Amino acid sequence: MCCSLDKSIRLPRNWSVVKPVSGKVLAQSASAAQRRLAYFTERRDAIVSTIRDLVEIESPSDNKAAVDRVAEAVAEKFSRLGGEVRFHRAKDFGSHLQVNFGGKSAKPVVLLGHYDTVYPLGTLATMPCRVEHNKLTGPGVLDMKSGIALMIHALAALQDLHKNWHKESPARELLRPVTVLLVSDEEIGSDSSRAITEALARRAAAVLVLEPSYGRHGAAKTARKGVGEYVIKITGKASHAGLDFEEGINAIRELARQIEKISKFTELTKGLTVNVGIVTGGSRTNVVPAEATAQVDVRIARLKDAAGIDKKMRSLRPFNRKCKIEITGGINRPPMERTAGVAALYAQAAAIARELGWKLEEAAVGGGSDGNFTAGLGIPTLDGLGGVGDGAHATHEHILISELPRRAALLAGLIERV
Ligand SMILES: [Zn+2]
Repeated sequence: MCCSLDKSIRLPRNWSVVKPVSGKVLAQSASAAQRRLAYFTERRDAIVSTIRDLVEIESPSDNKAAVDRVAEAVAEKFSRLGGEVRFHRAKDFGSHLQVNFGGKSAKPVVLLGHYDTVYPLGTLATMPCRVEHNKLTGPGVLDMKSGIALMIHALAALQDLHKNWHKESPARELLRPVTVLLVSDEEIGSDSSRAITEALARRAAAVLVLEPSYGRHGAAKTARKGVGEYVIKITGKASHAGLDFEEGINAIRELARQIEKISKFTELTKGLTVNVGIVTGGSRTNVVPAEATAQVDVRIARLKDAAGIDKKMRSLRPFNRKCKIEITGGINRPPMERTAGVAALYAQAAAIARELGWKLEEAAVGGGSDGNFTAGLGIPTLDGLGGVGDGAHATHEHILISELPRRAALLAGLIERV
């Protein structure tokens, strides 16, 4: 246990204010929404406690045993809600977890996320899970263990509410099928889970991604850039820089020219960027270097730019013909574009938020998520529905506790309506 809950959490000033609505129907739905909000506000400490359970099980992507531990803990929580739990075992990565709720009456909504984090084991010692006024801190609290807790509490609430409102329905029944998919390798590219994510998305009515929201106001993410990674390896010829300078073929010099060339592939107006992030090469100052390597991050905002930039990267030829150039990698996440399906889903979310008394904004971001894969298939996808906070992947990672009830209410509303 890391801390006790701070009960004196101050809520935002406009917390319970419903914007003026015209017409009886809107007023009714708004008051129903307010009851929903009150329901989740009462359970806010329970949501915090679920998040803490998950944050306190550290789960770096590259530690299979650790990720499997958190997978078991999450599965346990979903199976307590009556979900049908299925592990997709992965040999070198943690298990991916699928949980099915409801029958086959309609296309399911997929709730998508991941339980791996970027933090090595032992991070909790210096970055404990703690309540500090309105903040809950800890490794992965924002990205995205709070998102998982929101899934659990939204589903529990829908079961609870439907049981009371529809007395004829058996307990634990949702009005529509829901498939939860939580993967173990999102932070390292999702190679192991991508096929599962895409297969489930193809059968879905919509995909709701519980990755962190954007900014202080918790905007939903309606566009994400696609991501590519390339490695450029240059091979030259080593020689003594003093005795045999002319015999050598300098791989670093060749790489420098290539870096200049590919940096010019960036086209900011198209949202296309090329960033050389890591370079290595050479052995000693008195040796003409035989090898040099650059690792390159490519981002694209539009799917139609993928083939072009990929072709340009692969067509690189050595300036010095005596050098050898080798290009590996490619575009590994397509962009999530703001298609009509994405926009419609956002409009629904914004309407639910309005009933709850707040304005849900939208944002286009440069980072990718597994939502890129599902949106890339043309499945309506809305991302950034998780926690509101700051510092993902950083030492000050935290969420705002006061935002949890309305995020849960928003998610519950979306599950019902899409
Ligand atoms: Zn994430």
